[in-house]
Amino acid sequence: MKQRIKHCEVCKVDFSTMYRVQYEKPKKWVFVCKECLVDVKKDNPLYVYGGTWKK
Ligand SMILES: [Zn+2]
Repeated sequence: MKQRIKHCEVCKVDFSTMYRVQYEKPKKWVFVCKECLVDVKKDNPLYVYGGTWKK
């Protein structure tokens, strides 16, 4: 099993549950926490949800 630590792309904090998303150009997959997810998806046509990642 992979046990790599993921940090939120926005606030740089490590959470036990992260959300895999695209939200900016150029498109790339990043991990964000639940709070930052709400911010990046709001009124964002680039937002794509790619799954939930748990430790
Ligand atoms: Zn965050």
